[in-house]
Amino acid sequence: MLEKEVRLRIVEAAHLLAKSGMLYRGEHANLSARLDDQHILMTRGGSIANLSGDDLAVLDLQGNLADGEAMDATMQEVIQMHIRVYQARASVGAVIHTHAPHVTVFAVANQPIPLVYEPLLRFGVTESIPVVPWAPRGSDKSVNAIIDVLSNHPGLPAVMMANHGVLVFHQDPVNTARLLSTLDEAAELVIQAKALGGAKELDPAAIEQVKDRMAAFGSRR
Ligand SMILES: [Zn+2]
Repeated sequence: MLEKEVRLRIVEAAHLLAKSGMLYRGEHANLSARLDDQHILMTRGGSIANLSGDDLAVLDLQGNLADGEAMDATMQEVIQMHIRVYQARASVGAVIHTHAPHVTVFAVANQPIPLVYEPLLRFGVTESIPVVPWAPRGSDKSVNAIIDVLSNHPGLPAVMMANHGVLVFHQDPVNTARLLSTLDEAAELVIQAKALGGAKELDPAAIEQVKDRMAAFGSRR
């Protein structure tokens, strides 16, 4: 994909996140997308509510600025959180961090989000979304803990950071934004279901059955 197209896809994802309420009231978020083997594009500032294609910096996979204006000082501390995911997972094309309102309820409660909502299966989610222990954002301790979970759960496309928020990583910016809003739906539904006795587990055969249905009918969510 050309750089211009990747910029457009990041802007589209940012607008989707804003429209679907994934930014919470602080509107804090950071987004990135893989550009080529050696580079990513990443948002330069802390809010993405009115993001434009010019608000992105090109970084190499060590986190150094390769093109564009420098990142805001406060963004420097979260660069490694993005870079290390691209290094760890060749299949990842985009990384999004937000404080999505319902997912973050689970993050502050230090509880995993159980896999009980069928639409998540259609993004390839096959297990509950775990919480990584708290450490200062972007610190080696925090990032190493995230990468440890990724290594031990090769198909997992999201983790929560305890007492903070969520990190989601998937094929491309728009798909990753849609995964995040679906995960937030799941989190909201699990919370609501507690009033009715709690969410019920999916049939153990559901993952295979959904894969078969997607192969037969396409992957529409
Ligand atoms: Zn955050």
